[in-house]
Amino acid sequence: MKDLFLSVEGREVVITEALYVRCDGGDGSMGHPLEFMTLEKGGETMCKYCGRHYIHASAPTADKFKQPLDPAA
Ligand SMILES: [Zn+2]
Repeated sequence: MKDLFLSVEGREVVITEALYVRCDGGDGSMGHPLEFMTLEKGGETMCKYCGRHYIHASAPTADKFKQPLDPAA
């Protein structure tokens, strides 16, 4: 599965199967130094710079974000 980038109530949320994620905040005004984070299976973490939320795909909270999406999209 590819990472899913979502915007939930104004927050950026990334659903991923990776256990190591890195965030640079993306291009533009949200950019920041590269931050490496580890993700436990079924866990979640947040980037301390930009607040982007990373949720492992097996986390219960990931399901509610995945549901409205077409997995083929
Ligand atoms: Zn970030």
